[in-house]
Amino acid sequence: MNNPERRKQHIVVIGGGFAGLNFVKRLYRNPYYRVTVVDKNNYNYFTPLLYQVATSFLEPSSISYPFRRLFRKQNVDFRMETVNDVDTRTKTLRLGDGTGLSYDILVFAAGSRTNFFGNENIRQHAFSLKGIDDALYLRNELLRNMEKASLETDPDERRRMLTVVIAGGGPTGVEVAGMLAETKKYILANDYPSLADTPVNIHLVDGAPYLLAPMSHKTHTAALNAMHKLGVHVKLNTQVKDYHNGQVELSDGTAIEAGTFIWAAGVVANSFQGIAAESIGKGKRMITDAFNKVKGYDDIYAIGDISIQFGDERYPDGHPQVAQPAIQQGKALARNLLRVARGKVPKPFRYFDRGDMAIIGRQIAVADLFRHKLHLGGLLGLLSWLFIHVISLVNYNNKIKTLYNWAVAYTTRDQALRLIFRPGNRENRG
Ligand SMILES: Cc1cc2nc3c(=O)[nH]c(=O)nc-3n(C[C@H](O)[C@H](O)[C@H](O)COP(=O)(O)OP(=O)(O)OC[C@H]3O[C@@H](n4cnc5c(N)ncnc54)[C@H](O)[C@@H]3O)c2cc1C
Repeated sequence: MNNPERRKQHIVVIGGGFAGLNFVKRLYRNPYYRVTVVDKNNYNYFTPLLYQVATSFLEPSSISYPFRRLFRKQNVDFRMETVNDVDTRTKTLRLGDGTGLSYDILVFAAGSRTNFFGNENIRQHAFSLKGIDDALYLRNELLRNMEKASLETDPDERRRMLTVVIAGGGPTGVEVAGMLAETKKYILANDYPSLADTPVNIHLVDGAPYLLAPMSHKTHTAALNAMHKLGVHVKLNTQVKDYHNGQVELSDGTAIEAGTFIWAAGVVANSFQGIAAESIGKGKRMITDAFNKVKGYDDIYAIGDISIQFGDERYPDGHPQVAQPAIQQGKALARNLLRVARGKVPKPFRYFDRGDMAIIGRQIAVADLFRHKLHLGGLLGLLSWLFIHVISLVNYNNKIKTLYNWAVAYTTRDQALRLIFRPGNRENRG
């Protein structure tokens, strides 16, 4: 053990999303700790624009970037593996390939997954949108449905194939519905002349009385008006109960026949065996204190969606599961670990709410900034949405690609990314 690197405390971070990456960035080439990131993917990706990949407005490489390229020369190790469980007694993670990885300090930054609320039909048959794979799968299916519908002679069946139901009127549901409405308006009749007269129905269903419920009342109204303008059928105060035989069953007793059903109605934290039940709170999130330390452990931290932090009196139920708390917690934990290494006292986390925004279609953006004190719509809303999303992308490569794709989309209204790639279909191998 003469290697000085080996004598440093080893921090292992599970997950390189918003929280994990912002944590690690602050520890690049630091003199105190050795850092390893473990992620099931070999890339970081930007969830707020996943729906644009799913609807063929952006290509996946515009919003994703390989970890090994990000960590080059930064003195950070990377392992592409899924973590299944942790042995907190021996301080070892068990990885998907069966090997172990030991740590001195463990940071959970593994985010959340789609919550199907125990409905097996919905879990098996609905589309969800959590990662790049989901977005590509949905993109393929939407395009394949249009191909199939263009050959279908029965008008009722054609209409069913082109009907999309989206459960969940939060930003993802609203943004997917908006983009699909744009596709219907500008693309469908041009690419598929045989479908020009077939109605394409897009339904957006939510149990709350408003779309984008956590945002301001001004935004609720603006979002609903925008949906109506784009021809999306909105059903509020209504829940999706089940999905089988191509029928979406609703809590008001009605059903919609749909070729595509997209579930965007909630998340639950990713969970790991080996963490005590007393450390897990609402939504399976790990209970953390104001320093992001997991309840019951001295050497385990949780940041981002996977953590429910108590200690900030302004958020008695924990912070919202969105990007900003994850980014800010990642940065704060890294600063605190550096403070401790320098013999200083760590500082409690305080969340600064920069606001929420959403875009509906290509044109209508809504933003509530500075704790809902400033509401932006119209051109100002659109420009601030574009600006915030471009600067938030992980590096220049992604920023330039996205700007280029948007420039094409805004000027031509005809993005040529409607490609069906099927990695499972290898030549002559079935
Ligand atoms: C479609 C969509 C749109 C969204 N839009 C917005 C938006 O517009 N604005 C906003 O503020 N928030 C948005 N969010 C929420 C936001 O993405 C999350 O709050 C944020 O990603 C949380 O960051 P995180 O680092 O905790 O988790 P994530 O960013 O999800 O990162 C988790 C990482 O852990 C890895 N991982 C997971 N499990 C394992 C495992 N077992 N082993 C190894 N690696 C693992 C994943 O591959 C991933 O890289 C959106 C989310 C989705 C799904």
